[in-house]
Formats: sequence, structure tokens, C-alpha cells
Amino acid sequence: MAINNLIPFSSPELRFDQFKNELSEAFQSVAASNNYILGNEVKEFEASFSKYIKTNYCIGVNSATDGLALSLMALGIKSGDEVITTGLTAPATITAILQTDAKPVVVDILETTLCINPDQVKKAINNKTKAIIPVHLHGFSCEMDEIMAIAQENNLSVIEDCSQAHGASFNPKKLGSIGHVGVFSFYPTKNLGCMGDGGAVTTNDEEVAHKIRSLRNYGIQENGEVIHSGMNSRLDEVQAAMLNVLLPHLDAYNHRRQHYARLYTELLNKDLIKLPILSDDAVYHQFPIRVKNRDLFRESLESQGLLTGIHYQKSIDQHTAFKQYCKPLPVANKASNELVSLPIQPEILDEHFGDIYSTINKVIDTFK
Ligand SMILES: *Cc1c(COP(=O)(O)O)cnc(C)c1O
Repeated sequence: MAINNLIPFSSPELRFDQFKNELSEAFQSVAASNNYILGNEVKEFEASFSKYIKTNYCIGVNSATDGLALSLMALGIKSGDEVITTGLTAPATITAILQTDAKPVVVDILETTLCINPDQVKKAINNKTKAIIPVHLHGFSCEMDEIMAIAQENNLSVIEDCSQAHGASFNPKKLGSIGHVGVFSFYPTKNLGCMGDGGAVTTNDEEVAHKIRSLRNYGIQENGEVIHSGMNSRLDEVQAAMLNVLLPHLDAYNHRRQHYARLYTELLNKDLIKLPILSDDAVYHQFPIRVKNRDLFRESLESQGLLTGIHYQKSIDQHTAFKQYCKPLPVANKASNELVSLPIQPEILDEHFGDIYSTINKVIDTFK
């Protein structure tokens, strides 16, 4: 493979290309509708997505970051309250907590799933603690039975960050239907992604759903009055129309990701790398392997024509803005130094899988 002909790590445009006829039709129909914000496409998507996740309510919002902040607001979390979350996640999870003026309390992860460690959650609880935000990282579920038990015992709300887990489950339940609230991102590279920003909140709590519906639209209530000031965080009709086209294909798409996760597990040389767990409940938003000599390993792959990613390069305590909120995070620190995300997008693997795994095995051989 020539160096200027690299295999990409992620290519959402390949996915959009597959559905370009349906998408063009959907976009034209929105253009002709004379209704561009919170119209029929959003209503239709909210109905289909709540049916898919199996919750009573779904509220479309502008992003997962907003969805997390709006959920905290709707659950009554305020200045001085503490919210426990994980040391390995997108900065957005922490940003959302800080937006509400609450205090993030960041704890370490499990070695197995890289998700929040329930024992560390238990240790971090005090009388200011009001909520837990478990993040289903890379498409793998957190230990939801333990987390829900801890929450119940301590009267805490649970907000699942499902930004990387559309369609994943903690058997038999879909993620996003287990906590009090589930929050999803439709950023273009997610398992369900649109062509801009988008997000949604799922819940069975009628009152919380009602509050978020008003808070996403400045705080305006049905009678036109604003009692609690909100924000502008609406899902627009163009993005919702696109999500209506893609949602029916999500399960098949996730199955293709699982198929390639199994192939990687079967075919990669495991001498020097550690592979993620194999599970039919996971949706492999990423396929993160662990390598000791990570940077050199990635450079070698790139020189052989293969691009990879890192999720995440910094654990939360390694960000200047967040350091002060963190408990010691030895497991997350170590992971952030060793993680390499291999391409897992089916459209890329359909074309390049043979080249990708043989390149990786070749590089592993030179590292021995
Ligand atoms: C992508 C992501 C977010 C942020 O989603 P936006 O829609 O970009 O706000 C939050 N949490 C996690 C775990 C994510 O992967």
C-alpha cells in the first residue's frame, strides 16, 4: 500500500453514500415542508427511537452534551451537588456536569470493560452525591445491575451516557432503558449518526420527559410561559429526517460490527496485544486493543498504510480543567497509554479487512 493511499480509520461519508437516494428524498421533503425545527420528522423519530429503546418517552435535542446537561437540570441537580462519573470518557461527559454547576466526582474504571468501577462509585458517595453517570464506553455495557443497586440504596439518579452504545444491551434490556434517563449522541461517526450535531434523551419518567421537552426550547411551557429558564437545544428536521432513514438499518449495521469484531479476535496474532471482550450485547463503537509500545506500534501501522485512533489519549485526570475533580485513576491512566482503536466501520472493513489484519499481524511480528 502506498503511503498516500492510506486505509482510513473512519469514513462516515461511505455510509451516507449507501443511502444517498433515500436521504436526498428525505432532505427534499423537509425543504418543501415549511417546517424546519421540531416538526413531523422530529416527532416521528422520537416515536421510533423510544419504541426501539423500549422507553415511554424520547426527546430529540441538539447533542449528547446538551442531553446530559438537560437531564441533570430536569432531575433537579444544582450547584453544590455531586455527580459521580468515569475516568475514561469523552470530555463532553464532564463538561455537561460542569454546565449545570454541579461538581463532577471522577472515579476509576474496570480493567475488563474499561467502564466505571462500581466499587469505586460506592466509595465516592457522600451526602452531597445526587447522581451517577455510567458511560457505556466503546459500545460495551457498564455493570448496570450493580450500579442500579447502589443508586437505589443511596437514593441517587442514574443517567446512562449511551453516546457510544446505540442498540447495545445489558441483557435483556437495551442500554438507555435501565437508568432513570439515557442520553444518545448522533454525531456523524457514532453507530447512529447524522450529518451534523444531534442527540436524544430516553426515559420512562413522564415528569422528567415533560421538563426536558420544555427546557430544550428556552423553557417555554405549553401555555407559553417560562417558569424554569432553559436553553436552545432542539433537534432540527433535516437531521431527524436522516435519522429516520438510518434507524431501521441500525441493528443490521451493529451485527456487521460484531461480525468484524469476531473476525479480528479469530485472526489477529495475540502475542503482544490484548483484545477487547467478545459479546453479542456490545455494539463495538470502537474495537480497542491494548499494546505496550503504543506510539511506535501506531507509527509502524501508518507506515504500512493503516490509520488507527486512540480513545482516549488522556484519562480525565490528565486534562488541566478536570484534574481537580478526580480520585486516583491508575487503571484509566494505564489504559490511556496503551489503547489503540482499529478500524471497525463495516464499509471500510468490507473493502480492506484482509489488508488490515495481515498488516497488523506483520507489525506484531516485527515487535517480537
Ligand atoms: C460523543 C460523546 C459525547 C458527546 O456527544 P455530542 O453529541 O458530541 O455532544 C458524550 N459522551 C460520550 C461517551 C461520547 O462518545
